[in-house]
Parts: sequence; structure tokens; C-alpha cells
Amino acid sequence: MSDLARKLAAWHQQSGRHDLPWQHQGPYATWISEIMLQQTQVPVVIPYFKRFMVSFPDPVALANAPVDQVLAHWAGLGYYARARNLHAAAQQIREEFQGVIPDTLADLTTLKGVGRSTAGAILSLGFQKFGVIQDGNVRRVLARLFLIDDDLSRADAQKHLWDLATELTPTDGVASAIHTQAMMDLGATLCTRRKPNCQQCPLAIHCQAHLADRTHEIPRPKKVKQRATEQWVVLHIVDANGRSLLCRRPNEGIWGGLYAPPIANSLSRIGKDFGIPKVLDAEEQSQLEHAFSHFKVLLTLYRLEGSVSCPPENVTWVKLDDFQGGLPAPIKQLLLER
Ligand code: SF4
Repeated sequence: MSDLARKLAAWHQQSGRHDLPWQHQGPYATWISEIMLQQTQVPVVIPYFKRFMVSFPDPVALANAPVDQVLAHWAGLGYYARARNLHAAAQQIREEFQGVIPDTLADLTTLKGVGRSTAGAILSLGFQKFGVIQDGNVRRVLARLFLIDDDLSRADAQKHLWDLATELTPTDGVASAIHTQAMMDLGATLCTRRKPNCQQCPLAIHCQAHLADRTHEIPRPKKVKQRATEQWVVLHIVDANGRSLLCRRPNEGIWGGLYAPPIANSLSRIGKDFGIPKVLDAEEQSQLEHAFSHFKVLLTLYRLEGSVSCPPENVTWVKLDDFQGGLPAPIKQLLLER
């Protein structure tokens, strides 16, 4: 094991995170947590993870559940393709691997939504085998340690990072698991994006960005194109029995697979699509701004009492208070303020 990996392991024993609910729970818990953590912070993920594990305690339970139920457990976490992929991968595990999560990189990366890094985390943290990861925290730590002053999204920079990560990871399974967790923890707690705490860092004497006083500019910030705020109209249609019309959103695109009232750029567009001649009689109720990763949207909620004459497919009338399916968090917030 390298001097650097040894120091990191010693630091982790003293100062790493040891009480996250998915730690030491086996490969299934590692897999679920890794997917949830891909775009979401630890404190947000914890309650979702706990609920998910109660409802779907193993891959077969997940595979056998209706996808709508899985999406309902995901509502509020965003990036819903992750939940659909988890469900599809659980079905692959049930059909192709007798319900048991495979323990090789080659097999794991055949699962829907499981890339090389997630597979590496499942191998090392879940199975205590050699496995290499490359999430955002680890990329940042490596870029600083080795002063990689490149656009990290470029293929050659990524290959360089994978080579460094592989070289640094101990080959022994238990040591690999400690190293993986330690790299994640260092990135999350000391080597943060802004103001890394180099005074406390066990790797400071090895860190080229720190030694060159360039931690503030490594890694290079991503160029994010800002899109203008979009305006969306949400039409809450309520029938004579107090039931609301919800549409299952297409799997591809925003809030894919979740349920929401009709949404479009204008009331008249919804009126045409759903056959509502008096759509302009709808009353404005409230507004909410919501930020996605690359753009913002201003949602305006309207309410209309009545029915529709040509509902498209995937439409359902429900009592909102009894509805068990997944609603996007901002839509839920708008409707609950009704
Ligand atoms: S010395 Fe600072 S910049 Fe370098 S790895 Fe440690 S915390 Fe990160």
C-alpha cells in the first residue's frame, strides 16, 4: 500500500464517517445509496434511503414492485431516470442472476444505470473486494493532489484520473473498501469545493495544488450555460366528485414517470390537447419558481371545475388526498396550497 493510502486510511479511522445508514449493509444497500447520492446530498438522501429499504428490502422485492410505487418513493429526489433504471436493473438481477447482485465489474456494468464507478463502489463497499470509484468528490481530490489543470470532462483527463485512482486503490479487498470510503469522506468533509481545510488534511504534504497554493482554481470550474427562466402553466382540473385529473408524464424528460396535472406553455395549448373549450375560464391560484440543474421555471397554477372531452392516454382521475403515486415535489407543493 502506498504511503498516501496508508495516511488516508489512518485519517479515516479517526475522522471519517462511520454511521451512514447504508454502510456495512452489503451490496444492495451500497447500490441503492450510490444511485441516490449521484445528484443529491447525503442529508437529503438519508430519509429516502431508509423508506426505500423498508419498502424494497432486496433486489427481488424491488423487481416485483410496480414501477409507479418505486417512482413514488423517489418523488422529490429528482432525476427520475435513476429510479426507473434501478427498477429495470433489479429485474435484470432477478432474471439473469437468480436474484443475487453479481460481484464482478463485467457483470455489474451490464445492469441498467450502473457505470464503472457505481460498480466499483458496489465491489469495494458492498463486497469488500477490489473496486475503484470516480465520483465528483474523488475527482476533485485527485485533481488537487496531482495538480490536474485540465477540463476534467475531457476523455483524456478522465482516463488520467481513472489511472491515478486505480493505482492509489489498495488491491486487498478490505483495504480497498476503507480507501474508497476515505476518499469519499475526504472530498465531502475536508477537500470541499470552496475553502478546502488543508490544515487538517492528512495528505497535505503530498498535495501539489496545496503546495502550489492553487487549491482555489483546481479543479477548473465547469462552464455552465444559463438558460432563461421558462414559464409553465399547470392546470388543476377538478370534476364534480372532487377528483383531480393527473397525467403520467412520459418516461423521457422532466419528471419522467411521475404524475402531474396537465402542463404546457399556455392555457390554450392545454385546452386544445384535452378538448376544453372554456379553458380560459380557469382561475389563477398561485405561482412557484423551481430550479432544475440547467434552468429555472416559473410554474403558474390554474384551477378549473369541469371535465375534459378528449383526454390523452395515461390520464387518471384521483382524489389527491388518497393518491399513492409519485408527484413531483414542486407540483405537490403547488397543489397542497390549493
Ligand atoms: S491538502 Fe487541501 S486541497 Fe489537498 S487534498 Fe487535502 S484538503 Fe484537498
